[in-house]
Amino acid sequence: MSKRAYNFNAGPAALPLPVLERAQAEFVEFRESGMSIMEMSHRGAIYESVHNEAQERLLALLGNPQGYKVLLVQGGATTQFAMVPLNFISAGQVGSYVMTGSWADKAFKEAKLAGGAHVAATSEDKKFLAIPELGSIKPADNAAYLHITSNETIEGTQYAEFPDTGALPLIADMSSDILSRSFDVSKFGLIYAGAQKNLGPSGVTVVIAKEELLAESPSTIPTILRYSTHYKNNSLYNTPPSFSVYMVNEVLKWVEEQGGLSGIETKNRDKAGLLYDTIDASGGFFRGVAETGSRSIMNVTFRMESEELEKKFVKASEQEGFVGLKGHRSVGGLRASIYNAVPHESVKALTDFMKHFQQTQG
Ligand SMILES: *Cc1c(COP(=O)(O)O)cnc(C)c1O
Repeated sequence: MSKRAYNFNAGPAALPLPVLERAQAEFVEFRESGMSIMEMSHRGAIYESVHNEAQERLLALLGNPQGYKVLLVQGGATTQFAMVPLNFISAGQVGSYVMTGSWADKAFKEAKLAGGAHVAATSEDKKFLAIPELGSIKPADNAAYLHITSNETIEGTQYAEFPDTGALPLIADMSSDILSRSFDVSKFGLIYAGAQKNLGPSGVTVVIAKEELLAESPSTIPTILRYSTHYKNNSLYNTPPSFSVYMVNEVLKWVEEQGGLSGIETKNRDKAGLLYDTIDASGGFFRGVAETGSRSIMNVTFRMESEELEKKFVKASEQEGFVGLKGHRSVGGLRASIYNAVPHESVKALTDFMKHFQQTQG
């Protein structure tokens, strides 16, 4: 194989090399079955064991919170933007949303269509470059839940701590930072995440929720969109994305080998620290986009003096084997997505490249 790229893609994103190699070895024949996992029935014992293992491992990594269940569904986090309001907002209620940027806005717009949406707090006045103060978050009196986006992938912001909502269910889109750090699951009613950033390939979406929120859903919404359908059928109501689920299970094994969430968190904080320190020590040649207290350890957004220089930086980086450093088209600038599977060596190589670029261009 040619040299592996320094992959900073935002999603789909880098996967752990040992996981890819394991999948390669098991690709044609899985567990002496005479076939690939992609060729077998999702009702058979072999697939079902993988399916159940993935759910159990995910809960175990989260500390086996009592009364929670994992669902494996399809349609991405984007489908969850619609499923959350469809399942939880009753007549006379709204969903309360904390507006932190691009993804929160997409979730909010779906709630508007599917029940009613209310703004509990916003950082629009700061151009979404900070997470609102927790104390400023005010859910509506008729809120069915409070929705947050734990990490804004595009702006590069992340909650340092989570709000306490008491009896009101706290719902979080954790697509771009799930399993990146330890946190208290019991604060949340429901968490969802598309797999393609920190959990595996695209095609499967995980939902981790209190069973009381999953057991009963409105019979007025389509069957496939009810949480209860997936809950009652162990996420096997229809054909699951079996290969993606297999990959997620392998990624979860790898996370265990990294020392679980606390081990991964230490590594992630080291990587992010190295990159932010390089930005901060550049004397303004590179500038961090997010406010310091809201900086993401997953998506590091930064800018340079001019768009022209940024273009030059991206082009030069591509020649050196770096991939995915261009910021999202909606905000511009530069972004390095340093998810769990991005090795420390890639971040070190990037910071060396940044210093070199500054010496030659600065
Ligand atoms: C990528 C992303 C999404 C969209 O996920 P899909 O699986 O493409 O629907 C939603 N929310 C956040 C925070 C994301 O990073």
